[in-house]
Amino acid sequence: MRRVIAIDGPSGAGKSTIARAIAQDMGFDYLDTGALYRAIGLHLVRRGLDEKAADGTVEAALDSARVEFREGKVFLNGADVSGEIRTPEAGHYASVFSAREPVRRFLLGIQRDAARKADLVAEGRDMTTVVFPDAFVKIYLDASVEERARRRTLELAAKGFPVDEGRIRQEIRERDERDSTRAIAPLRRADDALYIDSSGCGREEVLGKVLGIIRRV
Ligand code: C5P
Repeated sequence: MRRVIAIDGPSGAGKSTIARAIAQDMGFDYLDTGALYRAIGLHLVRRGLDEKAADGTVEAALDSARVEFREGKVFLNGADVSGEIRTPEAGHYASVFSAREPVRRFLLGIQRDAARKADLVAEGRDMTTVVFPDAFVKIYLDASVEERARRRTLELAAKGFPVDEGRIRQEIRERDERDSTRAIAPLRRADDALYIDSSGCGREEVLGKVLGIIRRV
C-alpha cells in the first residue's frame, strides 16, 4: 500500500475540488470513489435493476461490470461515462445501490488496488473508516445543508439542468440520511479524522487548512 490521504464528508462539502487540488500539489493520484458508485449505479439501472432488486440479482449484474477511474475520468466497461454519471438521477441511484453489500464488496477491492499502484488522495464516504483506515492523513470535510444546496444549485444550473434550490436542499437531506444511517460503511466522522467545516470558506482557505495539516504530519 502506498501513501493515502483520505477525505470523507457529505455531498457538496467540496471534497472533489479539494482532493483534486491536493493531489496536484502533492503529485499524488486522485481517486473519486463517488464516481465509482455512480458508474455502478448506472450499470445496474441499465440492466433494469431498481431499489427492490435482491442482493443475488445485484451480485449477478456486477459480473458484467468493469469500472475504472483514470486521469479524472470514470470508465464503465471501457466507455467514458464521466458526464452521464453527474445527473441528479445517477446520484440518487448511486446512493441507493451503495447501501448494498455486493456493491460495496465489489468496489472495495478496486479502491484498495488503486492505492497499490500510486500514492492517492481518495475521497468519498468511508475512506477514513473502512477503505483506508491506515491513511496517513484523515479529514472529514463538512458544510451546512444550506451552503451545500446553494453550491449544488449553482453547479447544476451551470451545466444547464433545471434547478429548484428548495428541492435540492430536500434531496441533500435525504441523501445525508440514507448515507449516514445505512448498515454497511455509513458516512461518519472517524475518531482520528480532522474536522473541517467549509461553510462560508472559499476554496483557497480550505485548501490552505488541508495542506497545513498535511505538512504538519
Ligand atoms: O460523492 P458523490 O455524491 O459522487 O457520491 C454518490 C453516492 O455514492 C453517495 O451519495 C454515496 O451514497 C455513495 N458513496 C458511498 N461511498 C463512497 C463514495 C460514494 O457510499 N466512498
